[in-house]
Amino acid sequence: MRPKQQEKPSVLKGIGVCSGVIEGKAYLVERQKISAPNHYIKKAQVPQELERLERAIELAREQLKSVRKKVDPQEGRDIIYILNAQLMILKDEMLIRSITERIEKERLNAEWALERELKKIEGLFDTLEDKYLQEKKNDIDYVVERVLRNLMGKQQESISQIQDEVILVAHDFSPADTAQMPKGRILGFATDTGSKISHTAIMARALAIPAVVGLENITEYVNTGDFIVVDGLAGEVIINPTSGIRSKYKEKERSYRFSAEELLKSKDLSAETMDGFRVKLKANIGLIEEIPSILDHGAEGIGLYRTEFLYLNRKVLPSEEEHFHNYREVVEKIAPHSTTIRTLDLGGDKYASEIELAEELNSSSGLRAIRLCLKEVELFKTQLRGMLRASAYGRLKIMLPMISEIKELRQAKEILEEVKESLRTEGIPFDEKIQLGIMIETPSASLTADILAREVDFFSIGTNDLIQYSMAIDRVNEHVAYLYEPFHPAILRLIKRVVNAAKGSKIKVGLCGEMAGEEIYLPILLGLGLEELSMNYISIPRVKKIIRSITYREARNLMEKASTMKAASEVENLIWKDIKLQFPEVLS
Ligand code: PEP
Ligand code: MG
Repeated sequence: MRPKQQEKPSVLKGIGVCSGVIEGKAYLVERQKISAPNHYIKKAQVPQELERLERAIELAREQLKSVRKKVDPQEGRDIIYILNAQLMILKDEMLIRSITERIEKERLNAEWALERELKKIEGLFDTLEDKYLQEKKNDIDYVVERVLRNLMGKQQESISQIQDEVILVAHDFSPADTAQMPKGRILGFATDTGSKISHTAIMARALAIPAVVGLENITEYVNTGDFIVVDGLAGEVIINPTSGIRSKYKEKERSYRFSAEELLKSKDLSAETMDGFRVKLKANIGLIEEIPSILDHGAEGIGLYRTEFLYLNRKVLPSEEEHFHNYREVVEKIAPHSTTIRTLDLGGDKYASEIELAEELNSSSGLRAIRLCLKEVELFKTQLRGMLRASAYGRLKIMLPMISEIKELRQAKEILEEVKESLRTEGIPFDEKIQLGIMIETPSASLTADILAREVDFFSIGTNDLIQYSMAIDRVNEHVAYLYEPFHPAILRLIKRVVNAAKGSKIKVGLCGEMAGEEIYLPILLGLGLEELSMNYISIPRVKKIIRSITYREARNLMEKASTMKAASEVENLIWKDIKLQFPEVLS
C-alpha cells in the first residue's frame, strides 16, 4: 500500500460521465509494471534465496487455486482453462531448475534470476509463428509477474477476479479492463484521467454505473478500504464522508432513480416533436450483453456497434466464424430494427495491448481504424466476411470509421466488393442490397462531405473524434477536457455542412457521438435537421422526453440564432435561457 498524502481533501472534483450516485468501499487498482531489485548475492545467501523463491512459487499456486475455486465452472470455462495452464507452468520442473541454477551458479537474487529466465524464454518464443505457443508465452509472462509480486510482497491486480462489491479507483482503465469488470460487483469508478468522451467514460455509460473521470490525482488520496461516494451527476467524489453527508447523497440517489423510472414509462412512445418532426433514437453498443437493456429503454435499433471490443482481452484475432456468430446474434436479437456495425476502429484510447498489430496504434492520429484495416487487408476481409454472412439473417448496415479522404473509401469499397464476389462464388448468402456508410469524424471528411456523399448510402457524424481532431485535443487528457465544446461555432458549422451535404445527395445522416445523449445539445441537433441520433441507452428516455416537449420550428429558430453566435458559452446561455425557462423539469 502506498503512503497517501497526509491532508486528504474531503471532496474531489472531476467530470461526471455516468449519472447516478453510489457509495461504497474503494478498491485501488495499481497498474505500474513492477520493477524488481537486481543484485548479486553471497554464497551463504543462496539457501535463503532459494527458500524465498520456493515460498513465492507456492504462494502463487495457492493464489491461482483460490481464484479457480471462485470461478463458475460453466460460465468461466475459458478462465479455468487459462488458470490450469498457469498452474502447470508453476509445476514445470525445467523452468524451476533453470531459475534455481541461476541463483546457485550465477549468484543472482531470486527476482533477477526470474527475470533473466523470462527474457531467455521470450527470446525463444519470438522466433515462433504458432499462435498457440504465442499464447503460452503470455501465460508464462503472467505467472512470472505473479511470482515476482509475491517475492516483493506486492498484490496482484486483476479486475475480473474482484469478489467484493467495490468502487474502483485507478489512474485510468483500458477498454479491456472495463469490458471485464464483473457485473454487479463494480458499483462505480473514479479515475485520474479521462474526459466525457474517453472510452473509459463511454464504457461506464454502457455498464450503467456511476463514474467520475478526470479527477487528476484521486489515486494519491484514496486507498483500498476507504469509504467514498461517487456522484456521477455533479462529477464529485467524497472521501470518508460523515453520516450526515452520506444521507444527503442517499437522498440524491433515490430521487435520481425515481426520475429515471418515471421516464421509462414513456419508452414506447414515439420520439416526435409537438409539430410532428420524427427522430429515430438508436443505441450505441460495445457488448452483446447490452441488447436487453437497450430494448428496455426504447431504442429503435443499433446506430453504432463498436466491434473493437471483440478484439480486446485476447491474444489472437477473432476468426471469421466468431465475427459471423456475434453479428448474427446481434441482428437477430434486435429485429425488426436494424443494426449498423462499424468495422474495426482500434486505436487511440481503444488500444488493444494484447494483440500486437501496429506499434503506434495508441496514437489517435496514427495507423488506426480504417487506416489499419487498409494495411492489414486480411484482418479487414475476415471481419467483412463475418458481417456480410450475418446480413442474411437480419437488417445489417456496414459503417467505416475515420475516413479522411475519398481514396480510403474507394479502397475499402473495392475490398468489400472482392469479399462479396468470393461469397457469391462460394454460394454463401448475404444481403445484396447491404448499405455502406461512413462515419464523419475528421475535419477533412466534414469539409468534403458533398464529395463523399455521392459514394455512400449514409453518414453518421462521430462528434467525439470530430471535436477531438477539430479542437486539437486529446480525448483522454483531463487538462484540455474544457475544450470539448460541441457548441463551438467551428463544430456547429462542420455538422451543418455534413447535414446539408447528405440532404443534397438524398442520403441519410445521423449523429452517434456522446453529445447525442446530452439534453443540452438536443434543441440544436433537432434544429440542424438530424433525423437519427444514436447514444448510450441510459439517455434515450430523457432525450425522448425533450423531443416530445418542443417543436421543430422552435428548434430551427434556436439553431438560426446559435449560428450567429461567436462562442460556445453564448450558445449555451441561449439554450439554458430559452429551454430551461419553458421546461425546467426536463433540463435539470
Ligand atoms: C465518435 O468518434 O464520435 C464515435 C461515435 O466513435 P468512437 O467514440 O468510438 O470513436
Ligand atoms: Mg470515433
